[in-house]
Amino acid sequence: MQKTNLKALSKKELESFIANSGLPAFRAKQIISWIYEKYAQSIQDITELSKGLREKLSEKAYISNLELLGRQISKDGTEKFLFGLEDGESIESVLIPDEDRLTLCISSQVGCAMCCRFCLTGKMGLKRNLEAHEIVDQIISASMIIKPGKITNIVLMGMGEPLANFDNVVEALWRMTELIKISPKRITLSTSGIAPKILELPGKAPGVNLAISLNATTDTVRDYIMPVNKTYPLKVLMEACRKFPLSAKRRITFEYVMLKGVNDSDGDAKRLVKLLKGIPSKVNLIPFNPYEGSEFDRPYDERVIRFQNILIEGHLTAIIRKSKGQDILAACGQLKARYTF
Ligand code: SAH
Ligand code: SF4
Repeated sequence: MQKTNLKALSKKELESFIANSGLPAFRAKQIISWIYEKYAQSIQDITELSKGLREKLSEKAYISNLELLGRQISKDGTEKFLFGLEDGESIESVLIPDEDRLTLCISSQVGCAMCCRFCLTGKMGLKRNLEAHEIVDQIISASMIIKPGKITNIVLMGMGEPLANFDNVVEALWRMTELIKISPKRITLSTSGIAPKILELPGKAPGVNLAISLNATTDTVRDYIMPVNKTYPLKVLMEACRKFPLSAKRRITFEYVMLKGVNDSDGDAKRLVKLLKGIPSKVNLIPFNPYEGSEFDRPYDERVIRFQNILIEGHLTAIIRKSKGQDILAACGQLKARYTF
């Protein structure tokens, strides 16, 4: 008989599993709290259950864990984890310390199908979607490796397009907020712009922050660097952003990877100001992180600063994101599990 992975079950499924095992309902609650709050790595760890009960449960169930296959620490303190999955695939998560925050950047897919031209993950193609527990387990595993309770923020900005794995990501977000008890305000989902799913997200994961990888200000350029734009062009994408509900003081983050000579002109900056008019926003300018064989270059610092100044003159909040963890290929868009260790 194949054993049931308790982590792979939703709350409801776990409750039925416990009921079908002839156990009282409160046992499900205990198990959930041990998995998601105390990070139990095995049924044996759940010491609140008697030894006999743990043994009985272990006959037909188990708790899976990500396998730590590699860990690299950058000069700037950024840390990259390579995690192995049960089927032998692997994914990366990145821990980014920043003043008063410790942000974990997690993956939502093995690879990515969106084929953005500048992104190393995109070059892998899509291997498969991550299951909800594989998404959430990156938080549990990283917390266990460093110290439980230290991670303050979660960003879905690792490998994969989260909105292309919508149901699993929504379930994972639910577990993060309801079971691990991370405030949705501290979670940000980043998308290349799957407009209909942007509209669906707030109903399924209320309060979770949205980031858009915009990266261009004309359809011609965006079509070229981000093929998703051919399906959801700028007009449709911006319309979805305008409809995205934001509570007071909340803003949509627009990520803008600056590619030398492609999307970094004064004209682009001016168009960006126009595009974002009326949307509570914050722009993160990310100078392109090069990797071996990349077809783009990083603009000179002066260009990036000039671009930022035009945005600021246009009354936008614009921040130049210092790339973290470049020396270990942990920076934005550089994740490519398996090949980097
Ligand atoms: N698929 C989602 C989540 C991944 S986030 C998304 O695209 O939003 C990865 C971020 O890194 C995106 O904002 C992307 O535009 C950026 N990025 C990709 N490749 C990059 C590179 N080589 N240098 C800098 N940023 C890059
Ligand atoms: Fe996928 Fe995002 Fe990379 Fe595009 S930028 S290929 S959507 S991970």
